[in-house]
Formats: sequence, C-alpha cells, structure tokens
Amino acid sequence: MTDVDILAKERRARMAAERLLELKQVELADANRKLSAHALSLTDEIVEQREEAEALKEEKSQVLDELETANTALVIAERRLWDSVETIEDGFAVFDADEIMIAANSAFLLPFDGIEAVGPGIAYADMLHLAAEEGIVDIGDRARADWVRDMLGRWRGDSIAPSVVRLWNGVSIKLVDRRARDGDTVSLALNITDTIRNEERLKDARHRAEAANRAKSAFLANMSHEIRTPMNGVVGMADLLAETELDEEQRLFVDTIKSSGEALLVLINDVLDYSKIEAEKLTLHPDPFDLERAIHEILMLLRPSAQGKDIDLLVDFDMFLPTNYIGDAGRIRQVLTNLIGNAIKFTTDGHVLVRVVGLPMEDGAAQRVHITIEDTGIGIPPEMVGHIFGEFNQVEDERNRKFEGTGLGLAITRRLVELMGGEIWVDSEVGNGSSFGFHLTLPVAETEEPPLQPAPGWIDRALVVDGQAVNRQIVEKQLAMQKLDVLARRTGAEALAAAPKAGDIVLADSQLPDMTGEELAAALRKAGFAGPILMFSGIVGQGKSDADDCTRVLQKPLRRRELFAEIARLESGAPVQTVTPTMTTAQEASDASPVAAEDRAMRILAAEDNKTNRLVFGKLVKALDIELTFATNGREAVEAFRGQQPDLIFMDISMPEVDGKEATRQIRSIEADQGLAHTTIVALTAHAMDGDDKGILAAGLDHYLTKPLKKNAIFARIAEEVPPGCRAVFPEELTPTGT
Ligand code: ADP
Repeated sequence: MTDVDILAKERRARMAAERLLELKQVELADANRKLSAHALSLTDEIVEQREEAEALKEEKSQVLDELETANTALVIAERRLWDSVETIEDGFAVFDADEIMIAANSAFLLPFDGIEAVGPGIAYADMLHLAAEEGIVDIGDRARADWVRDMLGRWRGDSIAPSVVRLWNGVSIKLVDRRARDGDTVSLALNITDTIRNEERLKDARHRAEAANRAKSAFLANMSHEIRTPMNGVVGMADLLAETELDEEQRLFVDTIKSSGEALLVLINDVLDYSKIEAEKLTLHPDPFDLERAIHEILMLLRPSAQGKDIDLLVDFDMFLPTNYIGDAGRIRQVLTNLIGNAIKFTTDGHVLVRVVGLPMEDGAAQRVHITIEDTGIGIPPEMVGHIFGEFNQVEDERNRKFEGTGLGLAITRRLVELMGGEIWVDSEVGNGSSFGFHLTLPVAETEEPPLQPAPGWIDRALVVDGQAVNRQIVEKQLAMQKLDVLARRTGAEALAAAPKAGDIVLADSQLPDMTGEELAAALRKAGFAGPILMFSGIVGQGKSDADDCTRVLQKPLRRRELFAEIARLESGAPVQTVTPTMTTAQEASDASPVAAEDRAMRILAAEDNKTNRLVFGKLVKALDIELTFATNGREAVEAFRGQQPDLIFMDISMPEVDGKEATRQIRSIEADQGLAHTTIVALTAHAMDGDDKGILAAGLDHYLTKPLKKNAIFARIAEEVPPGCRAVFPEELTPTGT
C-alpha cells in the first residue's frame, strides 16, 4: 500500500469519523435539548411544589394558631364554669355511667373534709359507705348497711326522688339528682337548714296560735254557758211575769226585759258562731234531711214576725227536684233562717218567695241546688250591695234604722255557704225588693219516700183563685203535675164567673182582692157548687169556726206532698169537714188520741239541779194537764224513772253526782234489761258550742233544747210525745206553734 493509499484511507477514515462525529454531535445536541427541556420542566415542578409546601406550611401555622386560641378559650370557659360552680354554696357533683365521680365542687366535698378518698374517681356507693361509717350523716338508729342500701336504691331508681339527710353538725341537706347525657348523673346537695329551722319556727308558732285559739273557744263556750244560765232565769221569769195581771206600764217593762233578753241571746249566738268560723272551729255534720220540709218549717217559725204585715210567704220548690239530701241541716237552716228572716224584716207588703231549683250532677247522685229568697221590700242601694256581706255592716239610713240586728247575720251566712262549698249573691233594687241567692252541691239521699199521691179520678179540673200571680203560678204548676186542667183566676168575681161544676175542685186564697176566701166559698155554695173547696190561709188557725163552706183550710205555704195528699183524700160531693192544720200540732196530737180513753195524765219527769230553773220549768208547764215530777240530779232521775215510768223526760246535762248523759245511759240500759219501750229523753243544756249536740245524742238522748227554755219549744216537744190513752194535755186555748 502506498502512502497515497494510506493517506486516502486515512482521509476517508477521518472523513467517516468526522461524519460520525457530526452525527453524534447532532444526537448529542438533540439529547441535550431534551435534557434541558426536561430539566426546565423539573425546575418548574420543583418551584411549584415548593410554593405548595410554602402555602401548606402557612396554613398549618394558621390552624395551629386557631387551635391555640380555641384551646385557650376552652380552658377559660372550663375555669369559669368551675369557678362558678365553686362559688355556689350548695354542693354539685357529676358521676359517670359507672357511678364514678367525675367532678365535684368543694361544697359537695366539704362534709368529707379530711377524707382523701372522697373526690373525683370515687364510686357513689363507696362515698355512701364512708358517709355512714365516718358518722358524717346522722342516720339515727338505723343500721348503716340498711341506710346505704336505701340511699343507693333511691339513687339507682328510674326517677330519683329528692331526699333530705341530716349531717352530724345539724345541717340539713336536700339531695336532688338528675340523669344527664350518656348515663351521667348530676347530684346537687342543697343546704336547707335555714328553711327547715323556719318551718319549725312556723310550726311552733302555729301550735301556739292553735292552743290560744282553743283556749279562746273554750272560753267562749264557758262564757256562753255562764251567760245563758242566768239569762234563762231572766227570760223565763219575764215570760211568767207577762202572764200575770199587769197594768200597761208594768207590761211594757216586762216585754222590754223579755225582748232585750232575747236580743242579747241572739247576739251571743251570732258572736259565738262568728268566732267559731273565724277560728275554723266550725265543723259540718252532714246527715240526710228533707230540704223542702226544712224550708216549710222555717217559714212556719218565722211566720209570727210577718204577722201584722201584709206579706205572703211562698215556696216554689221545683217539681222534679228531689227533696232529700245529705247536708248539715242545722247550718242550712241557719242560712235560710237568716235570709228569709231578713227578707221578712225588710218587707212590709207584697211577698217573700223561696224558690228552689236544681241541676243534676254526677249522674244524678248529687244536685247543685239553687235557692233564691225574693222579697218585695225596701231593697238595698247599689253602693251598699258590696258591703252587706261584711262584718257589722248595715245599710244605715232613716229607712231601716228602725230595724234591729247585729250586722253579723249575712257575714255568718256567707261564711257558712262558702264552708259548705257554695256561693252566695244578691240582686237588689231600692224600693222594689231584693233577691238573695245561693247554691250548694248536695248528694241526694236515698230514701224510701212513697211516690206522690195522684189526684182521685173524679176530679178533672181545678179552679185556682189567688190575687198574687206568683202564687197562682206555683199552685198551677203543682196541679198540672197532677194531670189536672187548671183554670187560674185573680179575683172572687172572676172565680164565680168561671162557674165551677161537678168534677171541679176550687183552691182559693183566704185573702182575695175583692172578697175573702170564705165569702167566695159561701157565694159558690149559694150558686150551687157542691164540690170540694180548699182554702189557703197564711194565718195560723184561721177559719176554724167560720170556714164551714170550705172543705178544708190549709196553711200556706204547703209542701207539694201535703197538697197532693190533701187532694187525694178528697171525696166527691161536698163533705164539709173540720179544719186540718198542716203541721203537726198539739191539737192534732190530742185529736189523734181517742177522747174516750181519759184514764190518766201524761207523766213527765224533769231533772234539773238549779232551783230557779226548776221553778221556771214548773211555771212554764203549769197550765198543762200533766203529772210532773222533778229530780235534782241524775241519780234521782234514774230512781224516778224506775218508779214512775214517765212518758217523757227532760234532762239537764250538767248536774252534780250523776250528770244528764250518764243518767240517760243508765236509763237506756234499764230499758234494755227490762224490755221496756224507748222513752224520749230531751236534753236541756246551756252549752251552745258546736259538737255538743253530737255528744248529747251519742249518750242516748233523743232531742236537744238549749236554754233559756222557750215555752213553745217545750210545748211542741210535749205535743209530739203524748202517748195514746192519755188525757188531752193542752187546754183549748193553748196551741203550740212549734217555736
Ligand atoms: P242584721 O243583723 O242587721 O240584719 P245582716 O248581716 O243580716 O245584719 O244584714 C246586713 C244589712 O243588709 C241589714 O242591716 C240591711 O241593711 C241589709 N239587708 C239584708 N237583707 C236585706 C233585705 N232582704 N232587704 C233589704 N236590706 C237587707
């Protein structure tokens, strides 16, 4: 090989190498370019990531800041909460669902002062054990285990009732526990020592006040007894003196002594009643009673105070209302007597109407009974209406200054009505009259009252003649219930014009606007009416001799039952009969006993230790045809009972040796031993306090009269007890009126 060849070969090789190099350089440049592009993107990424990391870091530090703030707030809140809980003087603790104490304030832990174990972490049961063992709680004589068991039982119950514990130092703690969220229990321990001390102080004060009140009641009872005994002498003797020969002036003196004495007694009774109500000493004695009868009896008793006035006393007792109820008859009578008495007192003419309606309650087992007492009297000025139920309030002006009274009547009446669960009200118009109303809810008494008697079949029409519209309406309603046709007429002339005929009955008032009832009866007879004529009279005993044209004279107001019974007794034609008084009187009682059997006098035994009272009693019954024996104490009364077998005994209650109650017990046992009939024994007592009557009746006495003795009350009692086969007790002119 030549040099040229070698050179050419070298040149070729160099050129090839150069080309390769060139190629490689291109590749390298390319790779370089790629690399730098990659490096560039990497750099970008790194920058980005760095920025992100920066942001994150910032965010984290912000969150950390916030967290720190929140934490601080939480710590402050918790500290505040506990500071507050700490400031409470009462104990506060929280237990978790496992009964472990989570937290407690120092007041809660205070009683356990010095006992390390009691604090957060202790179980409730262990805390109770420690409280009992260490004598922290005064558990009395109870066994510790029992106490802990009961306390734990209470705490674990569904609803935890508050409980009071006493600590060793006399402090009283009321434990109040409540379940919270997640089974936690929050326990409060309230220091109620002051409240309990106050309660004890109050209780003590109340006991002392009650004792003072009892002393006052006893004092009043005694005072009433002490006043009544001498008053018995005063009123009784004045009564007797009034029956002797007296000149005008002497009679005035005696009457004044009598009425003053009686007024004084009313006053004593009012004051007594009022103080009893005030002292909440008045207890009610509910018993079955007949309301309709009670109203009629009260009107009967009050009738004398209406005498000399032109007042009609009327009763409108709702047709369909039961009449027997369970209530304190004595107190209901007292309310009615006050209201009806006032109505009569403040009325000079017109009427006093007692209206009774009712509303069935509890399926008819009770009735809400509304009673209104309506009068046509002087009325009450509107500005006074609000005051009359207050104490000692009277409508004082020249119109009624002439009326006597304590001004306590309505105050007592209102309190009594309220005590019986009712309400009282009044409507009044000066010059037109007043209407007092009250309602009471009374259980209906089960009775075996026979049904009201129907009218006889031959009567088909009734002619009612009365000047008073209210009166006509009442009788009309009653007769409509008897399924009779009713013609109501105001005057005698109108009645005559109606020309009653066979099958009719006539019911006429004794005082018609144009004539008397008797004149009407005479005119009807003259016109040929032969049927029954019933005359209503408001005056006791009226028409006894002159009412021959009337079939019967009935005393107003008449109970439905009595009116129906009278009608049922009627016979067709004109059987002119003697007068029938509607209330049981001595006359009726002695009429009932056959006149033929005049074999012996009624035997009455009166036991009374006080000489004056014996004298008064003897004089009171002097006019009666009786055989009277006195005993001066209970022992003598029992002896006299054995010897004499009296028909009726009047028994003083407080007597030396053997008192009236004991004597009665002995007499009752003699009766039982010897199989004797029951002898009526009437208590005579000066005690007017409530409840006395119960004791007296419990001792076996049948009735009860308070001193001073009233002649009429004694007569009425005797009249009811006249046994068959005795001579008439009352002379013709003496007819007890039942007062
Ligand atoms: P008093 O014992 O004076 O009657 P009350 O408390 O019963 O006392 O009555 C108070 C007053 O109310 C009476 O004095 C009288 O002025 C008035 N008052 C009571 N009832 C009536 C009535 N039906 N009509 C007019 N005024 C009456």
